[in-house]
Amino acid sequence: MLSGGIGGARFISGLRDALDGRPDAEVTVIGNTADDIWLFGLRVCPDLDTVMYTLGGGIDTERGWGRAEETWHAKEELAAYGVEPSWFGLGDRDIATHLVRTQMLGAGFPLSDVTEALCARWNLGVRLIPMTDDRVETHVVIDDAGQPDGRRAVHFQEYWVRLQAPPAHAVIPVGAEDAKPGPGVLEAIADADVMIVPPSNPVVSIGTILAVPGVADAVRTTSAVVVGVSPIIGGSPVRGMADRLLPVIGVDVTAQAVAEHYGARSAGGLLDGWLVDASDDSAVAPLVDLGLVTRAVPLLMSDRELSRELAAEVLDLADELRRG
Ligand code: GDP
Ligand code: CA
Repeated sequence: MLSGGIGGARFISGLRDALDGRPDAEVTVIGNTADDIWLFGLRVCPDLDTVMYTLGGGIDTERGWGRAEETWHAKEELAAYGVEPSWFGLGDRDIATHLVRTQMLGAGFPLSDVTEALCARWNLGVRLIPMTDDRVETHVVIDDAGQPDGRRAVHFQEYWVRLQAPPAHAVIPVGAEDAKPGPGVLEAIADADVMIVPPSNPVVSIGTILAVPGVADAVRTTSAVVVGVSPIIGGSPVRGMADRLLPVIGVDVTAQAVAEHYGARSAGGLLDGWLVDASDDSAVAPLVDLGLVTRAVPLLMSDRELSRELAAEVLDLADELRRG
């Protein structure tokens, strides 16, 4: 499967539970790295870490990101020195992860090796690999009256965390067009029986993974069945601000529009099957007309059991598609 941060991570934890008792099942997660950022000389990979901490049992479940039982002494000390950025939540425990990563990168290891080394501590039960070892960073073009053309591009983290997702003109995964898929990425897609697009952000999580040359084609041509889950329920992104970015790429904030954006593989798109929320069942018929096998089931992942049930629905739909 592909994954961003919190939506992907919750789904994967449900998938792991749903696969309990099927020890032959292997899960490879291709993680988004376009959220990554250098802060205070540290390489921070928010989505990889959200998946790693969630599956490793180290996540702060209230916030949905960062470490449980976190303290913030380093952040307070940095603020006391008056250095920026002060808006990014770098906890003390979390910093240890970034120190290990940055040290290994500095020693010449690619991010894929670093990620494997970090994950070894956490026993994820799945294989987590970055979408690329190359630097890709999402930038967002926003209004800025102080600029000659009235616009400015900011790093995605600044857009999301500091500015809280103001109106945007464009979302650009800088570096993506020259990036190579990470080791194992194309093979995992080609060799899969089932490929899952979880309810991650279609623009800045799934969209950036698909922007790495070769990945979208691998999804189009894999012999696996490809099943996706809507990140939109009843016109709302559930948690987070995905509704701010879909219109920027010309996609309405509905389960149907996101499915149309990904497209049916039978028509050159990416999906064979799609799950919408039970409350969005009016989207089923139009999507079936587009060639997508669509079911309406509860999509809210409010707790681990609901996440497991959702993952079981995905596997069930995949089984049906595999039987043809
Ligand atoms: P991020 O990188 O932390 O933003 O995480 P992702 O991109 O993986 O997932 C964020 C998306 O998950 C949001 O845009 C929401 O639309 C979606 N999402 C969050 N919670 C739920 C949920 O309970 N059910 C569904 N279907 N989608 C959700
Ligand atoms: Ca993210």
